[in-house]
Amino acid sequence: MAYQKRRLYDVSHLGLKCADCGVEIRELPFEPKDDRPVYCQDCARKRRPPQNRIFR
Ligand SMILES: [Zn+2]
Repeated sequence: MAYQKRRLYDVSHLGLKCADCGVEIRELPFEPKDDRPVYCQDCARKRRPPQNRIFR
């Protein structure tokens, strides 16, 4: 039952689509804004800046 750790906004009624791959988006981890493209989890992860991997 401890399922709702991170809060998701239900945006299924907005009919949002991922700006990258076009998949339907039903939940967002942040409040949706009209003037901002939204991405599905996969694309959001891809777009996220890489974590500091300065291994050499
Ligand atoms: Zn996507």
